[in-house]
Amino acid sequence: MLFFDAHLDLAWNGIDWNRDLKLEVEAIRQRELDLGIQGKGRAANTVSYPALRRGGVGLGVATLLARLHRADQKPGFQSKGFNRYEDMAGAHGCARGHLAYYEALQEEGVLRLITHKAALKELATAWQGGQALPGTPLGYILSMEGADPIVHPRQVEAWWNWGLRVVGPAHYGISTYAHGTATPGGLMPLGPDLLREMRRVGMILDVTHLADQAFDEAMEIFDGPVLASHHNCRALVPDQRQLTDDQILRLIRRGAVIGAAFDAWMLIPNWVRGQSTVEQTGVALRHVADHIDHICQLAGNCNHVGLGTDLDGGFGTEQGPGDIDTIADLPKLITILRDRGYSQADIEAIAHGNWIRYYEEYLPDA
Ligand SMILES: [Zn+2]
Repeated sequence: MLFFDAHLDLAWNGIDWNRDLKLEVEAIRQRELDLGIQGKGRAANTVSYPALRRGGVGLGVATLLARLHRADQKPGFQSKGFNRYEDMAGAHGCARGHLAYYEALQEEGVLRLITHKAALKELATAWQGGQALPGTPLGYILSMEGADPIVHPRQVEAWWNWGLRVVGPAHYGISTYAHGTATPGGLMPLGPDLLREMRRVGMILDVTHLADQAFDEAMEIFDGPVLASHHNCRALVPDQRQLTDDQILRLIRRGAVIGAAFDAWMLIPNWVRGQSTVEQTGVALRHVADHIDHICQLAGNCNHVGLGTDLDGGFGTEQGPGDIDTIADLPKLITILRDRGYSQADIEAIAHGNWIRYYEEYLPDA
């Protein structure tokens, strides 16, 4: 089965976490053990290029992730030293570095940037069924998680020309353009200009991480294509990080696809980061299936949900589904959905079809 993963922070792992993702997952873990690198998610990663290939994850969206450090952001997020910058020039430079990382891997034949419809079609065909000929690169669409690296709305066009196709204005806390996760509030003064410029050049809006008020305002101002790259259901896990049923229905009416996220605290209620354990809570892929099913029930079909695993988003096996050792375990989800009565066509739509259809519609022709 071909999988399309709509949210991976590959460059952040490659640069900020200094991981050689061309190694097997086990080898990266061993390397971090050998070097004595400690911290959350260390020696517990689940993503690498060989694992993606083995799991059939031939297509996906890779992020540029570099953000401002904000004195007024939620305490606890300030302690992470990496990828938080004192000014936008710093965030910009880091994100350009992430871009250069992807370009270097393209030179090596590991990745290939997808910027338009034909490139997507070509790689989707090459990866049909989840297996490609040796040497076929993994295809990725470029997105930005938190728009702090865009130093001014006028710079959106330059980013478009560098290959960026999706922008999520916010991340955790308050950013330049919008209130994000764990902060109540709307767009910041430059937010509307950013959205208008995104619309003008053809950029897709990712609503993931927008605070509720910012979500409302962005959906009002931005009349172009929207998606939610890595986002679960608040009806199942009550926290502002998740989408309400009303938000899900509004996204569905706009033709959006929502990517199910695999981070434990977004999968089950009452997960306490740093305290809860996979063993004690039993968090597993069946909980991912619960969120997928909730969106399908609201939609009345299987056309608006896909995967946005976020499996390399700052956590590892200590905070993910217990039945995922590496991302190559994704096919286990197929069995769970089949046991719940999902047809082969529905499962294919969720695994890759919905995202491919969405991007075939909204990527530019050339
Ligand atoms: Zn995220």
